[in-house]
Amino acid sequence: MTPPVPPRKRLFVKTWGCQMNVYDSTRMADVLAPLGYAPAETPDGADMVILNTCHIREKASEKLFSELGRLRGAKQAKEADGGRMVLAVAGCVAQAEGAEITARAPYVDIVLGPQSYHRLPEMVARATRAAGHVIETEFPTEEKFDHLPDAAAPQGPIAFLTIQEGCDKFCSFCVVPYTRGAEYSRPAAAVLAEARRLVAQGAREIALLGQNVNAYHGDGPGGATWGLGRLLREMADIPGLARLRYTTSHPRDMDDDLIAAHAEIPALMPFLHLPVQSGSDKVLKAMNRGHTADEYRRIAEKLRHARPDLALSSDFIAGHPGETEADHQDTLRLIRDVGFAQAFSFKYSPRPGTPAAGAPLQLPEAEKDRRLQEIQALLRDQQEAFNRSRLGLRFDVLFTGAGRHPGQAAGRSPWLQPVHAEGSPELAGQVLPCEVIATHPNSLGVRILTAESTGDPPSQEKAAA
Ligand code: SAM
Ligand code: SF4
Repeated sequence: MTPPVPPRKRLFVKTWGCQMNVYDSTRMADVLAPLGYAPAETPDGADMVILNTCHIREKASEKLFSELGRLRGAKQAKEADGGRMVLAVAGCVAQAEGAEITARAPYVDIVLGPQSYHRLPEMVARATRAAGHVIETEFPTEEKFDHLPDAAAPQGPIAFLTIQEGCDKFCSFCVVPYTRGAEYSRPAAAVLAEARRLVAQGAREIALLGQNVNAYHGDGPGGATWGLGRLLREMADIPGLARLRYTTSHPRDMDDDLIAAHAEIPALMPFLHLPVQSGSDKVLKAMNRGHTADEYRRIAEKLRHARPDLALSSDFIAGHPGETEADHQDTLRLIRDVGFAQAFSFKYSPRPGTPAAGAPLQLPEAEKDRRLQEIQALLRDQQEAFNRSRLGLRFDVLFTGAGRHPGQAAGRSPWLQPVHAEGSPELAGQVLPCEVIATHPNSLGVRILTAESTGDPPSQEKAAA
Protein backbone atom coordinates (compact mmCIF):
# COMPACT_ATOMS: atom_id res chain seq x y z
CA MET A 1 0.00 0.00 0.00
CA THR A 2 1.39 3.44 -0.89
CA PRO A 3 1.61 5.87 2.04
CA PRO A 4 -0.97 8.69 2.00
CA VAL A 5 0.32 11.85 0.27
CA PRO A 6 0.05 14.80 2.66
CA PRO A 7 -1.86 17.81 1.27
CA ARG A 8 0.40 20.37 -0.44
CA LYS A 9 1.10 23.39 1.71
CA ARG A 10 2.97 26.54 0.74
CA LEU A 11 6.20 27.47 2.52
CA PHE A 12 7.85 30.87 2.08
CA VAL A 13 11.36 31.37 3.48
CA LYS A 14 13.09 34.75 3.59
CA THR A 15 16.82 34.63 4.24
CA TRP A 16 19.14 37.37 5.46
CA GLY A 17 22.91 37.13 5.84
CA CYS A 18 25.61 34.72 4.85
CA GLN A 19 25.74 31.62 2.66
CA MET A 20 25.43 29.48 5.77
CA ASN A 21 21.99 30.96 6.30
CA VAL A 22 21.13 30.25 2.65
CA TYR A 23 22.18 26.63 3.23
CA ASP A 24 20.21 26.45 6.49
CA SER A 25 17.10 27.74 4.68
CA THR A 26 17.34 24.92 2.12
CA ARG A 27 17.74 22.39 4.94
CA MET A 28 14.68 23.78 6.78
CA ALA A 29 12.69 23.38 3.57
CA ASP A 30 14.04 19.79 3.34
CA VAL A 31 12.85 18.84 6.84
CA LEU A 32 9.43 20.30 6.13
CA ALA A 33 8.97 18.64 2.70
CA PRO A 34 7.76 15.31 4.17
CA LEU A 35 4.98 17.28 5.94
CA GLY A 36 3.74 18.43 2.53
CA TYR A 37 5.35 21.89 2.47
CA ALA A 38 6.51 23.02 -0.97
CA PRO A 39 8.38 26.28 -1.72
CA ALA A 40 6.32 29.42 -2.44
CA GLU A 41 7.57 32.55 -4.22
CA THR A 42 5.71 35.01 -1.96
CA PRO A 43 4.40 35.05 1.62
CA ASP A 44 0.87 35.92 0.45
CA GLY A 45 -1.46 33.08 1.35
CA ALA A 46 1.44 30.87 2.51
CA ASP A 47 0.75 28.18 5.12
CA MET A 48 4.10 28.78 6.73
CA VAL A 49 6.58 31.65 6.64
CA ILE A 50 10.11 31.37 8.03
CA LEU A 51 12.27 34.46 8.49
CA ASN A 52 15.87 33.24 8.69
CA THR A 53 17.74 36.09 10.34
CA CYS A 54 21.32 37.33 10.65
CA HIS A 55 22.63 39.17 13.69
CA ILE A 56 25.92 40.38 12.25
CA ARG A 57 24.72 43.58 10.68
CA GLU A 58 23.45 46.67 12.43
CA LYS A 59 19.69 47.09 12.69
CA ALA A 60 19.12 43.34 12.24
CA SER A 61 16.27 43.30 14.75
CA GLU A 62 14.64 46.47 13.35
CA LYS A 63 14.59 44.84 9.91
CA LEU A 64 13.03 41.75 11.43
CA PHE A 65 10.32 43.67 13.28
CA SER A 66 9.35 45.71 10.22
CA GLU A 67 9.08 42.47 8.18
CA LEU A 68 6.99 40.91 10.97
CA GLY A 69 4.71 43.96 10.95
CA ARG A 70 4.06 43.39 7.22
CA LEU A 71 3.45 39.67 7.70
CA ARG A 72 0.99 40.23 10.51
CA GLY A 73 -1.54 41.53 7.94
CA ALA A 74 -0.99 38.49 5.67
CA LYS A 75 -1.43 36.14 8.65
CA GLN A 76 -4.64 37.88 9.71
CA ALA A 77 -5.98 37.74 6.12
CA LYS A 78 -5.30 34.00 5.99
CA GLU A 79 -7.09 33.49 9.30
CA ALA A 80 -10.08 35.60 8.12
CA ASP A 81 -10.35 33.07 5.24
CA GLY A 82 -10.48 30.22 7.76
CA GLY A 83 -6.83 29.22 7.16
CA ARG A 84 -3.68 29.31 9.27
CA MET A 85 -0.24 30.76 8.63
CA VAL A 86 2.51 29.45 10.90
CA LEU A 87 5.02 32.25 11.38
CA ALA A 88 8.54 31.26 12.44
CA VAL A 89 11.64 33.32 13.20
CA ALA A 90 14.89 31.38 12.82
CA GLY A 91 18.60 32.18 12.78
CA CYS A 92 20.89 34.23 14.95
CA VAL A 93 18.47 37.05 15.88
CA ALA A 94 16.04 34.36 17.09
CA GLN A 95 18.87 32.83 19.13
CA ALA A 96 19.93 36.13 20.68
CA GLU A 97 16.57 37.89 21.11
CA GLY A 98 13.95 35.14 21.39
CA ALA A 99 12.17 36.63 24.41
CA GLU A 100 11.99 40.09 22.88
CA ILE A 101 10.53 38.68 19.67
CA THR A 102 7.64 36.93 21.41
CA ALA A 103 7.02 39.99 23.60
CA ARG A 104 7.01 42.51 20.73
CA ALA A 105 5.36 40.26 18.14
CA PRO A 106 3.09 37.86 20.05
CA TYR A 107 1.62 36.59 16.77
CA VAL A 108 4.91 34.79 16.01
CA ASP A 109 4.32 31.05 16.47
CA ILE A 110 7.86 29.61 16.49
CA VAL A 111 11.24 31.00 17.52
CA LEU A 112 14.17 28.71 16.81
CA GLY A 113 17.95 29.05 16.97
CA PRO A 114 20.32 27.70 14.31
CA GLN A 115 20.99 24.47 16.20
CA SER A 116 17.33 23.39 16.34
CA TYR A 117 16.27 23.15 12.68
CA HIS A 118 15.94 19.37 12.80
CA ARG A 119 13.20 19.87 15.42
CA LEU A 120 11.04 21.99 13.11
CA PRO A 121 8.44 19.30 12.23
CA GLU A 122 7.73 18.68 15.90
CA MET A 123 7.59 22.43 16.59
CA VAL A 124 5.19 22.99 13.69
CA ALA A 125 2.95 20.22 15.03
CA ARG A 126 2.99 21.79 18.50
CA ALA A 127 2.32 25.29 17.11
CA THR A 128 -0.62 24.15 14.99
CA ARG A 129 -2.16 22.20 17.90
CA ALA A 130 -1.92 24.92 20.50
CA ALA A 131 -2.09 28.67 20.86
CA GLY A 132 1.02 30.47 22.15
CA HIS A 133 4.64 30.24 21.03
CA VAL A 134 7.07 27.39 20.69
CA ILE A 135 10.62 28.46 21.48
CA GLU A 136 13.84 26.45 20.91
CA THR A 137 17.01 28.42 21.45
CA GLU A 138 19.02 25.89 23.43
CA PHE A 139 22.16 24.32 21.99
CA PRO A 140 20.79 20.74 22.00
CA THR A 141 23.09 17.88 22.91
CA GLU A 142 22.14 15.85 19.82
CA GLU A 143 23.74 17.03 16.60
CA LYS A 144 21.25 18.53 14.19
CA PHE A 145 23.09 17.09 11.17
CA ASP A 146 22.37 13.55 12.43
CA HIS A 147 18.67 14.36 12.34
CA LEU A 148 18.35 16.17 9.03
CA PRO A 149 17.04 14.09 6.11
CA ASP A 150 19.46 12.83 3.43
CA ALA A 151 17.12 13.65 0.59
CA ALA A 152 17.42 17.31 -0.22
CA ALA A 153 16.01 19.55 -2.92
CA PRO A 154 18.55 20.08 -5.75
CA GLN A 155 20.48 23.34 -5.38
CA GLY A 156 21.61 23.71 -9.02
CA PRO A 157 25.08 23.81 -10.61
CA ILE A 158 26.56 25.64 -7.58
CA ALA A 159 25.75 23.98 -4.26
CA PHE A 160 26.56 24.88 -0.67
CA LEU A 161 27.49 22.29 1.92
CA THR A 162 27.98 23.18 5.58
CA ILE A 163 30.84 21.15 7.09
CA GLN A 164 31.59 23.15 10.23
CA GLU A 165 29.58 25.37 12.54
CA GLY A 166 30.15 27.61 15.49
CA CYS A 167 33.25 29.36 16.71
CA ASP A 168 35.56 29.25 19.74
CA LYS A 169 37.65 32.27 18.77
CA PHE A 170 35.69 35.05 20.47
CA CYS A 171 36.80 38.04 18.44
CA SER A 172 36.05 41.20 20.41
CA PHE A 173 33.35 42.45 18.02
CA CYS A 174 31.54 39.29 17.00
CA VAL A 175 28.29 37.61 18.13
CA VAL A 176 28.84 34.29 16.35
CA PRO A 177 30.29 32.36 19.34
CA TYR A 178 27.20 33.38 21.33
CA THR A 179 24.57 32.70 18.64
CA ARG A 180 26.04 29.66 16.87
CA GLY A 181 27.73 28.04 19.85
CA ALA A 182 30.98 26.05 20.08
CA GLU A 183 32.95 24.84 17.09
CA TYR A 184 31.72 21.58 15.61
CA SER A 185 32.94 19.68 12.52
CA ARG A 186 30.79 17.13 10.72
CA PRO A 187 32.32 13.67 10.20
CA ALA A 188 34.16 13.37 6.87
CA ALA A 189 32.04 10.41 5.70
CA ALA A 190 28.80 12.39 6.14
CA VAL A 191 30.25 15.35 4.23
CA LEU A 192 31.47 13.14 1.37
CA ALA A 193 28.11 11.34 1.16
CA GLU A 194 26.27 14.68 0.97
CA ALA A 195 28.71 15.93 -1.68
CA ARG A 196 28.10 12.81 -3.83
CA ARG A 197 24.34 13.35 -3.53
CA LEU A 198 24.69 17.00 -4.58
CA VAL A 199 26.75 15.98 -7.63
CA ALA A 200 24.18 13.31 -8.53
CA GLN A 201 21.56 16.09 -8.42
CA GLY A 202 23.54 18.23 -10.87
CA ALA A 203 26.01 20.24 -8.77
CA ARG A 204 29.27 20.94 -10.66
CA GLU A 205 30.71 23.25 -8.01
CA ILE A 206 30.51 22.78 -4.25
CA ALA A 207 31.30 25.51 -1.75
CA LEU A 208 32.12 24.08 1.67
CA LEU A 209 30.79 26.37 4.38
CA GLY A 210 31.62 27.11 7.98
CA GLN A 211 31.96 30.13 10.25
CA ASN A 212 35.58 28.98 10.53
CA VAL A 213 35.66 26.46 7.75
CA ASN A 214 39.43 25.98 7.76
CA ALA A 215 39.33 25.04 11.46
CA TYR A 216 37.59 21.89 10.18
CA HIS A 217 38.72 18.80 12.10
CA GLY A 218 36.17 16.09 11.34
CA ASP A 219 36.29 12.43 12.28
CA GLY A 220 37.75 10.43 9.41
CA PRO A 221 37.65 6.66 8.89
CA GLY A 222 39.52 4.50 11.44
CA GLY A 223 39.54 7.10 14.21
CA ALA A 224 41.72 9.61 12.30
CA THR A 225 40.96 13.31 12.37
CA TRP A 226 40.83 15.00 8.99
CA GLY A 227 41.75 18.62 8.41
CA LEU A 228 40.27 20.65 5.56
CA GLY A 229 43.19 19.90 3.20
CA ARG A 230 42.57 16.14 3.49
CA LEU A 231 38.82 16.58 3.02
CA LEU A 232 39.34 18.72 -0.12
CA ARG A 233 41.69 16.12 -1.64
CA GLU A 234 39.05 13.40 -1.16
CA MET A 235 36.27 15.60 -2.50
CA ALA A 236 38.27 16.44 -5.63
CA ASP A 237 38.08 12.73 -6.56
CA ILE A 238 34.27 12.74 -6.77
CA PRO A 239 33.46 12.06 -10.44
CA GLY A 240 31.53 14.91 -12.07
CA LEU A 241 32.59 17.54 -9.53
CA ALA A 242 34.44 20.24 -11.48
CA ARG A 243 35.02 22.93 -8.88
CA LEU A 244 35.59 23.32 -5.16
CA ARG A 245 35.65 26.34 -2.88
CA TYR A 246 35.50 26.90 0.87
CA THR A 247 34.48 29.85 2.99
CA THR A 248 34.91 31.57 5.51
CA SER A 249 38.47 31.03 6.64
CA HIS A 250 40.48 32.42 9.52
CA PRO A 251 44.15 33.32 8.90
CA ARG A 252 45.17 31.47 12.08
CA ASP A 253 43.91 28.15 10.65
CA MET A 254 45.60 28.53 7.25
CA ASP A 255 48.09 25.70 7.80
CA ASP A 256 50.76 24.43 5.38
CA ASP A 257 48.75 21.34 4.44
CA LEU A 258 45.81 23.48 3.37
CA ILE A 259 48.07 25.87 1.47
CA ALA A 260 49.64 22.86 -0.29
CA ALA A 261 46.15 21.71 -1.29
CA HIS A 262 45.87 24.88 -3.40
CA ALA A 263 48.93 23.77 -5.38
CA GLU A 264 47.79 20.17 -5.72
CA ILE A 265 44.08 20.32 -6.51
CA PRO A 266 43.21 21.84 -9.90
CA ALA A 267 39.49 21.78 -9.00
CA LEU A 268 40.15 24.06 -6.01
CA MET A 269 39.36 27.47 -7.46
CA PRO A 270 42.04 30.18 -7.34
CA PHE A 271 40.02 32.51 -5.15
CA LEU A 272 39.99 32.65 -1.37
CA HIS A 273 38.01 34.74 1.10
CA LEU A 274 40.40 35.32 3.99
CA PRO A 275 39.18 38.04 6.37
CA VAL A 276 41.87 40.16 8.02
CA GLN A 277 39.66 42.92 9.57
CA SER A 278 42.55 45.36 10.19
CA GLY A 279 46.13 46.06 9.13
CA SER A 280 47.20 47.32 12.56
CA ASP A 281 48.86 44.90 15.00
CA LYS A 282 47.46 46.88 17.92
CA VAL A 283 43.89 46.61 16.64
CA LEU A 284 44.32 42.95 15.63
CA LYS A 285 45.39 42.28 19.23
CA ALA A 286 42.43 44.21 20.64
CA MET A 287 40.18 42.22 18.31
CA ASN A 288 41.69 38.97 19.68
CA ARG A 289 42.47 37.80 16.14
CA GLY A 290 45.63 35.93 17.17
CA HIS A 291 47.91 37.02 14.30
CA THR A 292 49.79 40.10 13.13
CA ALA A 293 49.50 42.05 9.89
CA ASP A 294 52.85 40.68 8.66
CA GLU A 295 51.74 37.13 9.40
CA TYR A 296 48.74 37.77 7.15
CA ARG A 297 51.05 39.16 4.42
CA ARG A 298 53.17 35.99 4.66
CA ILE A 299 50.12 33.72 4.36
CA ALA A 300 49.02 35.63 1.25
CA GLU A 301 52.51 35.19 -0.23
CA LYS A 302 52.59 31.47 0.51
CA LEU A 303 49.16 31.00 -1.07
CA ARG A 304 50.21 32.84 -4.22
CA HIS A 305 53.41 30.83 -4.34
CA ALA A 306 51.33 27.63 -4.18
CA ARG A 307 48.82 28.87 -6.76
CA PRO A 308 50.13 31.85 -8.75
CA ASP A 309 46.73 32.82 -10.19
CA LEU A 310 45.09 32.92 -6.75
CA ALA A 311 43.17 36.10 -5.91
CA LEU A 312 42.15 37.11 -2.43
CA SER A 313 39.04 38.58 -0.91
CA SER A 314 38.70 39.82 2.66
CA ASP A 315 36.60 41.52 5.34
CA PHE A 316 37.56 44.83 6.99
CA ILE A 317 36.12 46.67 9.96
CA ALA A 318 36.54 50.45 10.08
CA GLY A 319 36.66 52.12 13.49
CA HIS A 320 37.00 49.31 16.03
CA PRO A 321 37.15 50.88 19.55
CA GLY A 322 40.60 52.38 20.14
CA GLU A 323 41.53 52.50 16.43
CA THR A 324 43.67 55.59 15.78
CA GLU A 325 44.35 57.37 12.49
CA ALA A 326 47.74 55.60 12.37
CA ASP A 327 46.00 52.23 12.78
CA HIS A 328 43.62 53.14 9.96
CA GLN A 329 46.60 54.05 7.75
CA ASP A 330 48.10 50.63 8.57
CA THR A 331 44.91 49.04 7.23
CA LEU A 332 45.13 51.03 3.99
CA ARG A 333 48.80 50.01 3.70
CA LEU A 334 47.94 46.33 4.13
CA ILE A 335 45.28 46.61 1.44
CA ARG A 336 47.83 48.18 -0.95
CA ASP A 337 50.49 45.58 -0.07
CA VAL A 338 48.31 42.49 -0.45
CA GLY A 339 45.90 43.58 -3.20
CA PHE A 340 42.36 42.22 -3.18
CA ALA A 341 40.15 41.13 -6.07
CA GLN A 342 37.08 41.83 -4.00
CA ALA A 343 36.28 42.55 -0.35
CA PHE A 344 33.61 43.39 2.17
CA SER A 345 34.06 46.27 4.57
CA PHE A 346 31.92 47.36 7.46
CA LYS A 347 31.70 50.22 9.90
CA TYR A 348 32.27 48.86 13.40
CA SER A 349 28.90 48.48 15.09
CA PRO A 350 28.64 47.43 18.74
CA ARG A 351 26.93 44.08 19.25
CA PRO A 352 25.39 43.76 22.72
CA GLY A 353 27.22 41.26 24.92
CA THR A 354 30.50 41.36 22.98
CA PRO A 355 33.67 42.70 24.69
CA ALA A 356 34.20 45.53 22.15
CA ALA A 357 30.70 46.89 22.77
CA GLY A 358 31.66 47.86 26.33
CA ALA A 359 35.23 48.92 25.52
CA PRO A 360 36.40 52.51 26.05
CA LEU A 361 37.37 54.77 23.14
CA GLN A 362 34.35 54.16 20.93
CA LEU A 363 34.73 56.26 17.79
CA PRO A 364 32.26 58.89 16.59
CA GLU A 365 30.04 57.70 13.72
CA ALA A 366 31.36 60.39 11.37
CA GLU A 367 34.94 59.23 11.90
CA LYS A 368 34.01 55.58 11.30
CA ASP A 369 32.16 56.65 8.15
CA ARG A 370 35.14 58.57 6.80
CA ARG A 371 37.52 55.66 7.40
CA LEU A 372 35.08 53.19 5.86
CA GLN A 373 34.75 55.34 2.75
CA GLU A 374 38.54 55.48 2.34
CA ILE A 375 38.82 51.72 2.72
CA GLN A 376 35.98 51.16 0.26
CA ALA A 377 37.38 53.55 -2.35
CA LEU A 378 40.70 51.71 -2.33
CA LEU A 379 39.04 48.28 -2.44
CA ARG A 380 36.77 49.41 -5.29
CA ASP A 381 39.80 50.55 -7.31
CA GLN A 382 41.49 47.22 -6.69
CA GLN A 383 38.40 45.26 -7.72
CA GLU A 384 38.02 47.26 -10.93
CA ALA A 385 41.70 46.83 -11.74
CA PHE A 386 41.44 43.10 -11.10
CA ASN A 387 38.41 42.80 -13.39
CA ARG A 388 40.16 44.86 -16.10
CA SER A 389 43.19 42.57 -15.86
CA ARG A 390 40.98 39.66 -17.02
CA LEU A 391 40.35 41.28 -20.44
CA GLY A 392 41.45 38.92 -23.22
CA LEU A 393 42.13 36.02 -20.84
CA ARG A 394 40.78 32.57 -21.57
CA PHE A 395 39.49 30.34 -18.83
CA ASP A 396 36.64 27.98 -18.04
CA VAL A 397 33.28 29.35 -16.93
CA LEU A 398 30.66 27.37 -15.04
CA PHE A 399 27.29 28.34 -16.49
CA THR A 400 24.43 28.56 -14.01
CA GLY A 401 21.34 29.68 -15.97
CA ALA A 402 19.78 32.63 -17.76
CA GLY A 403 21.45 36.05 -17.80
CA ARG A 404 19.60 39.31 -17.18
CA HIS A 405 18.88 39.91 -20.86
CA PRO A 406 17.19 37.68 -23.45
CA GLY A 407 19.67 35.43 -25.24
CA GLN A 408 22.17 35.68 -22.39
CA ALA A 409 23.58 32.90 -20.23
CA ALA A 410 25.07 33.65 -16.81
CA GLY A 411 27.90 31.92 -15.02
CA ARG A 412 30.87 32.29 -12.70
CA SER A 413 34.55 32.73 -13.42
CA PRO A 414 37.18 30.79 -11.42
CA TRP A 415 37.47 33.98 -9.28
CA LEU A 416 33.74 33.97 -8.55
CA GLN A 417 33.07 36.97 -10.79
CA PRO A 418 29.59 36.96 -12.31
CA VAL A 419 29.94 36.32 -16.03
CA HIS A 420 27.52 36.76 -18.94
CA ALA A 421 27.75 35.43 -22.48
CA GLU A 422 25.62 35.14 -25.56
CA GLY A 423 24.05 31.74 -25.09
CA SER A 424 21.14 29.69 -23.94
CA PRO A 425 20.12 29.23 -20.28
CA GLU A 426 20.30 25.53 -21.09
CA LEU A 427 24.06 25.77 -20.80
CA ALA A 428 23.47 25.64 -17.01
CA GLY A 429 25.73 23.02 -15.48
CA GLN A 430 28.30 23.13 -18.29
CA VAL A 431 31.89 24.22 -17.78
CA LEU A 432 33.00 25.85 -21.04
CA PRO A 433 36.16 27.61 -22.20
CA CYS A 434 35.55 31.31 -22.67
CA GLU A 435 37.42 34.49 -23.56
CA VAL A 436 36.82 37.77 -21.75
CA ILE A 437 35.63 40.44 -24.20
CA ALA A 438 34.34 43.10 -21.76
CA THR A 439 34.99 44.00 -18.14
CA HIS A 440 32.73 45.87 -15.73
CA PRO A 441 33.18 46.92 -12.08
CA ASN A 442 31.26 43.86 -10.84
CA SER A 443 31.15 41.40 -13.74
CA LEU A 444 32.74 40.16 -16.95
CA GLY A 445 31.38 39.72 -20.48
CA VAL A 446 32.75 36.62 -22.23
CA ARG A 447 32.44 34.79 -25.50
CA ILE A 448 32.18 31.03 -25.46
CA LEU A 449 35.00 29.28 -27.28
CA THR A 450 34.63 25.88 -28.78
CA ALA A 451 36.55 23.06 -27.16
CA GLU A 452 38.86 23.03 -30.22
CA SER A 453 39.86 26.66 -29.88
CA THR A 454 41.62 26.08 -26.55
CA GLY A 455 42.52 22.49 -27.15
CA ASP A 456 41.30 21.67 -23.63
CA PRO A 457 38.46 19.43 -22.62
CA PRO A 458 35.78 21.82 -21.35
CA SER A 459 35.47 20.22 -17.91
CA GLN A 460 39.10 20.89 -17.05
CA GLU A 461 39.67 24.17 -15.26
CA LYS A 462 42.68 25.89 -16.73
CA ALA A 463 42.84 29.50 -15.68
CA ALA A 464 45.26 31.87 -17.34
CA ALA A 465 47.69 33.03 -14.70
N1 SAM B 1 34.61 33.96 10.81
C1 SAM B 1 34.93 35.02 9.96
C2 SAM B 1 36.27 35.60 10.38
O1 SAM B 1 36.85 35.19 11.32
O2 SAM B 1 36.72 36.53 9.78
C3 SAM B 1 33.91 36.13 9.94
C4 SAM B 1 32.51 35.84 10.08
S1 SAM B 1 31.50 37.23 10.41
C5 SAM B 1 30.07 36.32 10.42
C6 SAM B 1 31.51 38.16 8.90
C7 SAM B 1 32.11 39.53 8.97
O3 SAM B 1 31.22 40.44 9.58
C8 SAM B 1 33.38 39.65 9.79
O4 SAM B 1 34.50 39.21 9.10
C9 SAM B 1 33.43 41.12 10.12
O5 SAM B 1 34.18 41.83 9.16
C10 SAM B 1 31.96 41.54 10.09
N2 SAM B 1 31.48 41.86 11.45
C11 SAM B 1 31.22 41.00 12.44
N3 SAM B 1 30.82 41.65 13.55
C12 SAM B 1 30.88 42.97 13.26
C13 SAM B 1 30.62 44.17 14.00
N4 SAM B 1 30.26 44.12 15.29
N5 SAM B 1 30.76 45.34 13.36
C14 SAM B 1 31.13 45.40 12.07
N6 SAM B 1 31.41 44.30 11.32
C15 SAM B 1 31.28 43.12 11.91
FE1 SF4 C 1 33.30 35.85 14.68
FE2 SF4 C 1 34.95 34.85 12.82
FE3 SF4 C 1 35.95 35.88 15.07
FE4 SF4 C 1 34.61 33.58 15.16
S1 SF4 C 1 36.57 33.98 14.11
S2 SF4 C 1 34.41 35.27 16.58
S3 SF4 C 1 33.05 33.92 13.59
S4 SF4 C 1 34.82 36.96 13.44
